[in-house]
Amino acid sequence: MKAVLIVLDGLGDRRCKALNGLTPLQAASPTLLDRLAAEGETGLVDVVSPGVPNGSDTGHLALLGYDPYKYYTGRGPFEALGAGIELSPGDVALRCNFGTVDHSYVLIDRRAGRISSEEAEELASSISENEVEGVKVIFKHTVEHRGVVVLRGGGLSYRISNVDPHATGTVVSMPKPLDGSREARLTAEVLTRFLTEANKKLASHPVNVRRVQKGLPPANFILTRGAGVKPEIPSFESKYGLRGAVVAGGALYKGVCKAAGLDVIEVEGATGTVNTNLGGKVDATLEQLKSHDFILLHVKATDTLSHDKKPVEKVNMIRKVAQAFERLYKELPPNTHLALTGDHTTPSEIGDHRGDPVPLLIWGPEVRGDSVSMFNEIACSRGGLGRIRGVDVMPILANYIGALEMFGE
Ligand code: ZN
Ligand code: ZN
Repeated sequence: MKAVLIVLDGLGDRRCKALNGLTPLQAASPTLLDRLAAEGETGLVDVVSPGVPNGSDTGHLALLGYDPYKYYTGRGPFEALGAGIELSPGDVALRCNFGTVDHSYVLIDRRAGRISSEEAEELASSISENEVEGVKVIFKHTVEHRGVVVLRGGGLSYRISNVDPHATGTVVSMPKPLDGSREARLTAEVLTRFLTEANKKLASHPVNVRRVQKGLPPANFILTRGAGVKPEIPSFESKYGLRGAVVAGGALYKGVCKAAGLDVIEVEGATGTVNTNLGGKVDATLEQLKSHDFILLHVKATDTLSHDKKPVEKVNMIRKVAQAFERLYKELPPNTHLALTGDHTTPSEIGDHRGDPVPLLIWGPEVRGDSVSMFNEIACSRGGLGRIRGVDVMPILANYIGALEMFGE
């Protein structure tokens, strides 16, 4: 038996004024998801811990069954792994945005006007390989305004401050050591020099000259955050005896799964944006089920629209995703179980993550069922799975497909 875990990023929400007091899931009431909830079992998930707003990184670790309080070492390494950079022990990885600063380093735009992937890629090639004080500095673009920086060389530390101030109108402060160690000081110095030199190169790059001419914010600064080292986590296969793969657009999701030993499947047009190739992701999931026992299928757009405070668009996106999954449901091999949930709640009238639990459904031939017949935050609170934690999802799913060994004799 096999299993597919579908994660709709930031799926959980609250009642929205713009939706007459309904949550986006209630307003969408997607036919397929309601049917799966009616035939399957539902519940609510405190992904990391009750009331704790979590990031996508810790959320996905938890949903794969890894306690994030034990295994999380920062977001940077996951982004780097997902971007296809092999990390060695001692490497320090950071996630970053192309941003816009003025001549006094005052932050004008955290995303450089959400610069396109094409332009960002061109800019990235001018700063991809660098060496500062004997330390190799690798920059790699991922999607849109996002990228990763990896520092490679002896004697480095992840204990450095974030450069991204998360608020425009403030001066960006260069990385500072967060402890008194020589390693943290060296890392902060190396990164500061790289960021300063990159700022000069980017400012005069033809792509940015063109952007300024068009009145667009130039992508002239690399805003780093989330420094970390490669996490040491037991493989997914050793935990559950399942061969797994991930179908996702965003680097972070690929990276978390790669750290757990899952195969990363590249899908043309899976961009991690609202225009992602949903049909291609469904095709890839069905194809990979031939050679894998477990697929994590991730869709980012629900979270993006929540951050953009667009509840109505989130409703439409939920419907669009559910429609694309109709084919997955129809063509699913027999004896496959489906689970569907979110990695956190992102209320679309707030635009940021909150610690409310997310709805979960599990559907498949072995599932006992409950009395819930709709898939949303309110209905699932009465479900047979009750209220569980993120780390419980994978064991429950693994139990249904007979992958867990007995505890005791
Ligand atoms: Zn997320
Ligand atoms: Zn988010």
